Amino acid sequence: MPELPEVETVRRGLAPFLVGARVDRVEARRPDLRFPLPAGFAERLTGARIDALGRRGKYLMAALSTGETLIMHLGMSGRFTVAAAGTARRPGDFHFAGAADPAHDHVTMEVTGDLGKARIVYNDPRRFGFMDLAPTEALERSTHFSGMGPEPLDEAFSAAMLKAALNGRRAPMKAALLDQAVVAGLGNIYVCEALWRAGVSPRRPAGRLSAATAARLHAAIRAVLLEAIEAGGSSLRDFAGSDGALGYFQHRFSVYDREGAPCPRCGAPVRRFVQSGRSTFACGKCQK
Ligand SMILES: [Zn+2]
Repeated sequence: MPELPEVETVRRGLAPFLVGARVDRVEARRPDLRFPLPAGFAERLTGARIDALGRRGKYLMAALSTGETLIMHLGMSGRFTVAAAGTARRPGDFHFAGAADPAHDHVTMEVTGDLGKARIVYNDPRRFGFMDLAPTEALERSTHFSGMGPEPLDEAFSAAMLKAALNGRRAPMKAALLDQAVVAGLGNIYVCEALWRAGVSPRRPAGRLSAATAARLHAAIRAVLLEAIEAGGSSLRDFAGSDGALGYFQHRFSVYDREGAPCPRCGAPVRRFVQSGRSTFACGKCQK
């Protein structure tokens, strides 16, 4: 399931084709993804210029010249494929998350931009992803973003903010950090990795962190995200013209999906256990 770093990698991969481009044609092959597509979806996009491609949490946001923003969420299995014919910089077809079965191509967008004509296809076998259109000036008040916590990589996000957001919460650390109102963009993988990096047990009550532990956790969250974005960027650079995969696959985790392997810090075996129905990976020895 794509988390902040994977969505950011997709954003960086798509941006050269989309930013400044004109939308020539849009085809939605079904009326809904996880939710129904907004009324007049193709018509509202066609002819618009894409002025910027941003990200908030796990959402991509394409700001349009029409005053609306196209909001895109990859859900669990969403991916974009770009076919850019005849461009000098990146010839050929390439994918942003491995091979895609065309039966699950749900939305196609043809654009003309600095790199020439490109065909961008949204493919999503499980259809937990979605797209929406909202007025750009009211974006932060839209249902998608109104309750969302701070961006972990913003300068404004501080250890004190993290501590304040966790204060009084009785939930275990793992559940609290998955809550998008505490901090945006984290999912199962990077919560496990950040807690390991900070030496904090996923079972510890979230509301009773010392200032020093909150500072360690804050630094760990940023470090694991930045390293994963860096790994995603490398895979993007190596990727043009190949049929490889982006994101998770080239990135090595310290504890996530490493049950029984030695903890990279203390050598004790990494444990797997279930919290709120999902697997947690942690070191039982050096995470307190
Ligand atoms: Zn350990």
